Amino acid sequence: MTHLALSRVHFPVTSLGPGRRVGVWFQGCSIRCPGCVSLDTWAMRAPETAVATLLDGLQAIAPEADGLTVSGGEPFDQPEALHALLLGWRTRHQGTVLVYSGYPYETLTPRLAVWNGLIDALITDPLRLDVPQTLPLRGSDNQRFHLFTEAGRSAFTNWDRPQPDAPPSLDVMVDAEAGTVYLAGIPRRGDMTRLAERLAAAGHRLAVTEDKSASACW
Ligand code: SF4
Repeated sequence: MTHLALSRVHFPVTSLGPGRRVGVWFQGCSIRCPGCVSLDTWAMRAPETAVATLLDGLQAIAPEADGLTVSGGEPFDQPEALHALLLGWRTRHQGTVLVYSGYPYETLTPRLAVWNGLIDALITDPLRLDVPQTLPLRGSDNQRFHLFTEAGRSAFTNWDRPQPDAPPSLDVMVDAEAGTVYLAGIPRRGDMTRLAERLAAAGHRLAVTEDKSASACW
């Protein structure tokens, strides 16, 4: 049975692709781009979540979703688990699949060549703060968009160019049980600084943790 180091499951995510999407965040990133806001997903953890169990958990929400977005963390640092998750999603659900990776596309092509049809849209390459951020779904414009399927071209073409009416870049999620609020999405440059300043003005502090327990929220 294939296992996954899981950071979190989000639903609904509206800031990372069209519609209301299931977000699966992998735990662990070996790339560690300067300026990444997902420091909490960097730490490598033991793969303790069975992919089959995760897929069973998604069964309840996937019929309401327009697709799956996989990010993290670095999904391709756990290639067997990523493959099992995508295969399971394709077998069970209809929605489009968007995957993020900080690796250059050329590094991934041998693997992608035998994953034909599992990914509709892929965004590759590391975050670079020295490159402007004008395109949706990306932290910097060096990050390349790859559309592999007809469904991907149909659903994501408009997301591969600047959008005058930009969709929301962040979802605010509340985990009432844990008493935490967290963000999903790609902040625009300066968003986190502005958020920290506004929270500070209201007497709160914005903290970014590098390490946390794996959890799920849906
Ligand atoms: S932006 Fe993505 S690839 Fe880069 S450090 Fe953050 S999680 Fe890793």
